[in-house]
Amino acid sequence: MVGMALACFLASTPLTKQLSVAIIDSNPALGSGLCIKKDDPPDPRVSTITPTSISFLQDAGAWKYVEQNRHAYFDKMQVWDYTGMGYAKYGARDVNKEYLGCVAENKVLHSALLSCIKDSDFKKTIYPLKLTSMTLNPSSMSMVDESVASRESSAQGSSAKLQLSDGSSIYAKLVVGADGGKSRVRELGGFKTTGWNYSQNAIICTVEHASENRCAWQRFLPSGPIALLPVGDNFSNIVWTMNPPESDNRKSITEEAFLKDINSALDYGYGLHPSSSLSGNRDILSWFKMNQTSSADEFFEIPPKVVRLASQRMVFPLSLRHANSYASKRVVLIGDAAHTVHPLAGQGVNLGFGDAFSLSKIIAEGIALGTDIGEVNLLKKYEAERKPANITMMAILETFQKAYSIDFGPFNFLRAAAFSGANYISPLKRSIISYASGEQKLPLFL
Ligand SMILES: Cc1cc2nc3c(=O)[nH]c(=O)nc-3n(C[C@H](O)[C@H](O)[C@H](O)COP(=O)(O)OP(=O)(O)OC[C@H]3O[C@@H](n4cnc5c(N)ncnc54)[C@H](O)[C@@H]3O)c2cc1C
Repeated sequence: MVGMALACFLASTPLTKQLSVAIIDSNPALGSGLCIKKDDPPDPRVSTITPTSISFLQDAGAWKYVEQNRHAYFDKMQVWDYTGMGYAKYGARDVNKEYLGCVAENKVLHSALLSCIKDSDFKKTIYPLKLTSMTLNPSSMSMVDESVASRESSAQGSSAKLQLSDGSSIYAKLVVGADGGKSRVRELGGFKTTGWNYSQNAIICTVEHASENRCAWQRFLPSGPIALLPVGDNFSNIVWTMNPPESDNRKSITEEAFLKDINSALDYGYGLHPSSSLSGNRDILSWFKMNQTSSADEFFEIPPKVVRLASQRMVFPLSLRHANSYASKRVVLIGDAAHTVHPLAGQGVNLGFGDAFSLSKIIAEGIALGTDIGEVNLLKKYEAERKPANITMMAILETFQKAYSIDFGPFNFLRAAAFSGANYISPLKRSIISYASGEQKLPLFL
């Protein structure tokens, strides 16, 4: 998704649309053109797209293709935990917006990005192949070839050599590693990473309700969060984090038992509803009531019941990983190749779209100045712009992840106080919504 988004951004910018771009992806669906029909069964892999990412994709001309398929804008979100001590409700109206985000199936996003690339008059070649090796040879660089990527026969001006799984080679002035958390480009480029594997897996699937769900729900349970995200029609997607033995068990139990577990996790299972705390917390925080957000008056709601499993169940091991550097001569990393985060706030691909947008601007700047676009000094500007933003988001997600893995009386009270603060203190609440929407401001009293 992130690599194809970069291609869309390059194709829609006057200075970069002259570039010649090779898209190499071993995903077999890419070769078959990613054709989807509106009434196809839902893809269990979905992404919550923030308003900032939506506006990037709108400007590049890709979002209209998402809107032609199943998707769900949501304007409300409810977050609570198993202790029954607190909850927070967020509404798009709190920040004078129409929506908080949009959930789209990954196959819809892939297909939209591919349609946008195919419809542009941009010199692109799609290789449905695997990258097997990469040789970097900066000393042989010359500026005679205007293209970014070319086949061996016209490769005099290129410097990085990419070997593909069919035995062919491509030469390029710039290689962008957008090949995910286990990036081969990162490995072949010698980029070091810092990070760890969580002792948690996410089980994901699509479920059906008796009527349409229009709200994003997330409940923190002792073993990790469960999210119920609207995906359009009567479907919602479940992303449920738990320890590996639990996920293995839940992947194999009967549909009936699994649905019972989901409904219990989103309702009374693990603890009481936080209904009684509302009035007490409001009194404590009454001095913040001026300019109160409209969602602060809303009561706790029980999520809609799940009635049917509408997709297979998939399990993903979770990890946090960050490349120590994003750029070297001729090679740059974007998306999960540069940073992999916990899915609890649905930010992963949005950080990647932010990277792709920033890199497209830096490449345009290099072209405007007549600089070699594989020059490390140019690429480091992209790193300087994105690294602080990505690290800040990673730190916030890590704090959440840690805060919810502790089940200890006094700490549970502190956490409930934080929930109430996030619900009733309007400036904090608005800045949390803005930050989660993709704006760069931190969620503080600023
Ligand atoms: C359970 C779960 C839920 C998530 N929910 C959300 C969410 O709601 N919102 C959100 O923003 N993020 C979410 N994420 C994170 C999101 O899925 C990732 O951040 C996103 O997929 C990263 O996109 P990418 O394009 O960087 O990498 P990937 O999606 O991993 O794509 C990498 C591509 O590279 C190709 N590739 C890999 N190696 C090679 C090779 N050697 N040669 C050729 N091609 C290769 C692969 O085929 C693949 O197409 C979630 C993640 C998980 C696990």
